[in-house]
Amino acid sequence: MRHTLALLYRKSISLKITKISLETYSWPRKQPIANGKHTYTNYGMTLVNIETNEGITGIGIGGAGKIARATIAKLTPLLIGEDPLDVERLWHKMWAPKLIGRRGFTTRAISIIDIGLWDLRAKAAGMPLYKLLGGYRDRVPIYIAGGYYAEGRGLKELAEEMVSYVEMGARAVKMKIGALPIPEDVARVKAVREAIGPDIKLMVDANCAYRAYEAIQVAKRIEEYDPFWFEEPIAPDDYAGHRRIAETTSIPIATGENEYTRYGFRDLIATNAVPILNADATHLGGVTEFMKVVALAQAHDLDIAPHGKQEVHVHLVAAIANGLILEFYPKEFNPLWGQMYHSTLQINDDGAVSPPNVPGIGIDPNYEVLQQYRVA
Ligand SMILES: [Mg+2]
Repeated sequence: MRHTLALLYRKSISLKITKISLETYSWPRKQPIANGKHTYTNYGMTLVNIETNEGITGIGIGGAGKIARATIAKLTPLLIGEDPLDVERLWHKMWAPKLIGRRGFTTRAISIIDIGLWDLRAKAAGMPLYKLLGGYRDRVPIYIAGGYYAEGRGLKELAEEMVSYVEMGARAVKMKIGALPIPEDVARVKAVREAIGPDIKLMVDANCAYRAYEAIQVAKRIEEYDPFWFEEPIAPDDYAGHRRIAETTSIPIATGENEYTRYGFRDLIATNAVPILNADATHLGGVTEFMKVVALAQAHDLDIAPHGKQEVHVHLVAAIANGLILEFYPKEFNPLWGQMYHSTLQINDDGAVSPPNVPGIGIDPNYEVLQQYRVA
C-alpha cells in the first residue's frame, strides 16, 4: 500500500496541463417546460477536457454560454504547463475579479475548469472523487425534481407525474410554483400532496418568482401541505426579504443556486434565514470553492442540498457530513437521459443513489450519441 501511494505521488509531481478543449452540446426537449420565471426548449451542456503530459484527462462539466466559452479561452493560457493537482493555487490564479468579474458566467467558467481539475486529481490518486474529498457515505438520498409547467399539464397530469416519481423509488419530490396566480399554485400543491400521501417529502420551488410580501402569503397558504422546503421564494439579492419570510413561516427556506463563491454564501448565511443551501459547484466556483462553502455551512450547522448536475454533486453530498439530499433529474427531464453517458446514475431500492466507484467523477460521455448535437 505504501509502495502504491509512493508511486502515485512520484507520478503526480510530473503532471503538466498540455491542452484544454471545450465542447458544447444542445438538444431539444420533447416539449418546452417552464418554471416560475423561465421557459426551456433545449437541454444543453458544456464539457471541458483537460489533457496532461501523462495521458490522464480531466473532464469538467457545466452549463456554459458564449460568455463562459470566451472566459475559458482567456483562462487557458494561465493553465497550460501548470500542475493540475495544484487546485488551490490554480483557482486563485483564475480568480481575478478586476479582470473577469465576481459572479455569473465568468465564475461558471472557472467552475467547469475546476471540476475538470478535480476529476483529474481523483483519477491521478486512483480514487472516486467522493473518497478523495472526505468519504462520508456511499448512499446519497435523493429527491426527484419535476412538476414543471407545460402545455396541457393540468392538476391531474401534475399529480400523475409526481406519483410516477414515487413509483420510481423517490422518497422526496419537488414541484414548481410561482408562474400562476397564488390560489392556482396553492391548488397545485394541494393536488400533489393528496396524490403522494403524507409520507413523501414535498419540496416547492418558485425560482425567484415572488416578492417577499407574496412569498409570505404563499408560505402561509401551503403550510398545511407540509412542504419540506420553500426554494428560491424571492430574488437572490433580497437578503432582507429572506429574513422577513423566515420570521413568518415554519417552512424552511432553501436557496443558493444563484449564489457565487464563499463570499456570496457568507452574506447569505449572515441572513440567518436560510437553513438549507442549494450550492451548485458548476455555478459558484467549482469543487474547490464548494468545499469552502460546505465548511462555512458546517460552522453554522446548516445543510447542503446541491442544485443541478447530479453526476458531480452525488460525489459532493457523499463526501460531506452536512449533505442533506441530492437533486435528481429523471429521464422525463432530458431526452438523452441514459444515453449521453456510457453509464448513468440509477436510483437504488432505498431511494438513494451511489457515486460511481471508479477513479475521478466517472463522467464518460457517449460521443456517438452526443456528436449530432454539438453546437460549438
Ligand atoms: Mg431551483
